[in-house]
Amino acid sequence: MSTPKDVPTIGKDALDREVKDLSKVPWWGMERTKIEWYPTIDYNKCATCGICFVTCGRRVFDFDKKSGKVVVAHPYNCMVACQTCANLCPTGALKFPSPEYIKELSAKNKLAKKAFEIISPLMPKDKLSEKETETTPYGE
Ligand code: SF4
Ligand code: SF4
Repeated sequence: MSTPKDVPTIGKDALDREVKDLSKVPWWGMERTKIEWYPTIDYNKCATCGICFVTCGRRVFDFDKKSGKVVVAHPYNCMVACQTCANLCPTGALKFPSPEYIKELSAKNKLAKKAFEIISPLMPKDKLSEKETETTPYGE
C-alpha cells in the first residue's frame, strides 16, 4: 500500500515546488480516485489572491501562467474531508461536496470502528466496558 512518503514525484508546480501523486495513496483502504472529494473554483468569485495555491501542502492547486489563474491541477491529492483552503479563501470561491457525502462514506467504510481499533490499546482498561474489551463500541 502506498503512503505519502513513498509515492512518486510527478513534477514541479509554478513555484518550483515538488508535486507528488497522492492519488495513489488509498483512504482507509479505499482507492482515492473513487472518492469525489476535492475543491472546485468558482471563477466568478475568485480574486486570484493565491492563498489556496500557496498554502495547500498537498499541491492540489497550481498557477496557470498563461491564463493568470489558480487552477485545481491535482484534485485527488486533496486530503479527504479537509476544507482548509475553503476556510481561508477570502471570497468564498472554493466549493466542496456536502459533508453528508463524507459522513456516508465514512459510515460505509466503518471508519469509526477502524479508528477505535487503533486507539483502544491506548485506553485504560477501566475506561472500557466489558463489551468494548471484546469488540469495539462501533462493532456490529
Ligand atoms: S483562495 Fe479563493 S480567491 Fe484566493 S486564489 Fe484561491 S479560490 Fe481564488
Ligand atoms: S482541502 Fe486541504 S488538502 Fe484539499 S486542497 Fe484544500 S487545503 Fe489542500
